[in-house]
Amino acid sequence: MNSRNAAEPSPWFHCRRPPVAPRIAAGGRKSTAAAGMAVLLAAILLAGRGGAADTRPRHVFLLIGDGFGEVQAEAAQRALAPEGKLAFQSFPVIGRQRTRSANADVTDSAAAATAIACGVRTLNGRIGLAPDGRPLDSIAVLAHRAGRRIGILTSVSLDHATPAAFYARSAARGDYPSIARQLADSPFEFFGGGGMAGQKAGDGSPDNLQRAISNGFFIARTREALACLPAGRRVLAFNHRLSSQAALPLALEARPDDVTLAEFAAAAIRRLQEEPFFIMVEGGMIDWACHDNDLGSMVREIAAFDEVVRRCLDFARGREDTLIVVTGDHETGGLRRLDDDVAGTPAVLLRQKMPRGALVARFGDLAARKADFAAVEPLLAEAFGAGIFADADRAGQETAWRACLQAADARKAAKEFSALVLRQVAAHAGYRFTSGGHTAADVPVYACGPGAGRFAGLYDNTEIFGRLHALMHGDE
Ligand SMILES: [Zn+2]
Repeated sequence: MNSRNAAEPSPWFHCRRPPVAPRIAAGGRKSTAAAGMAVLLAAILLAGRGGAADTRPRHVFLLIGDGFGEVQAEAAQRALAPEGKLAFQSFPVIGRQRTRSANADVTDSAAAATAIACGVRTLNGRIGLAPDGRPLDSIAVLAHRAGRRIGILTSVSLDHATPAAFYARSAARGDYPSIARQLADSPFEFFGGGGMAGQKAGDGSPDNLQRAISNGFFIARTREALACLPAGRRVLAFNHRLSSQAALPLALEARPDDVTLAEFAAAAIRRLQEEPFFIMVEGGMIDWACHDNDLGSMVREIAAFDEVVRRCLDFARGREDTLIVVTGDHETGGLRRLDDDVAGTPAVLLRQKMPRGALVARFGDLAARKADFAAVEPLLAEAFGAGIFADADRAGQETAWRACLQAADARKAAKEFSALVLRQVAAHAGYRFTSGGHTAADVPVYACGPGAGRFAGLYDNTEIFGRLHALMHGDE
């Protein structure tokens, strides 16, 4: 990894869109290659000197890809922008953070988010609380207290661990009703993306969405509502169509009327930009795709996340006052290149049309109906494009499908069959997952704008809080 030493700051940090726009954007829509080129010609310059006061950014973006490690970024770039870079990869400063939690080498998202948001290493599962139970103030809470406007956005539910660490405290990340209640009571100006997994407590206590409305939040559920928000209201915006976990649709399953994470980010920027702001955006489902060992879906989630980075760059263009930091909370899936000598063909990942969940459902139906392999092949072609699989792949699939038909539990067998197929697709792209969980790998930190140089080098995740705090509020 290309790290620059914080002790030798480059006096100017240039920040520009990458010269080649990715092949797809979130939801499969075409990206704006022409706009990308225009931006290149304009040669965006975000600048800040390496010193103290004049590096203080007026606006700060912190973008967190859940489960987003170095190999995830590389695989996505090779699939989406083989001749160029993803937006964050064009940033002038690249550092790395260590991710371990207070009680484990391998962190969960709650402890990692608490480390980043609050600067304290805590126990897995905890949000906004130190290991001894001491309540912590997040960087967003402190920034709000100092007069900044705050936006918290994610593609998963807004009461999920990563966004929660910026506004809530909980000894149990899964206590969604308590976290959603804290969201409803939050003084922050903008929440957007997914909904509330803990909207209803189930114990007869008031609905947390109603509580948010009573506390003055304006609720926007569509692109149209987002485009004409009433003046002077705080905003809670989420897509009209959410998953059972209150997340946005997966990028692979998004429809044209679904509001993307990048659109929520753009709306937050429009809403907050008159005053200094701190905006956190989480790409939450990169992690889910990696848990599923579904590389094609992961690439689409990173494309959606990178589109957020592009919106932030669009705002920052021509200004010299905006810091953008892009990082992960931990690595998920133990993703590896198969072999340094084997390039693979990452572009095959862009032909994938269905995420693992849809594959399991469709293969499960076929297995329950005892369909033979001839009925499976058209579905494989529909899901991954024709001609991707080699003879050896097909032989393995046929053997696995026979086992599927003999299994007592069709859905479990379909999961195993889907895992085999996704492993084969990843191998064609040149990658393999070595885990279904999180790993202890360090994760990259990309930064541009005033103060970016402070994010060079290798450091603990807890230091991101201190560096952001020093930049926003001074070193004292
Ligand atoms: Zn995870």
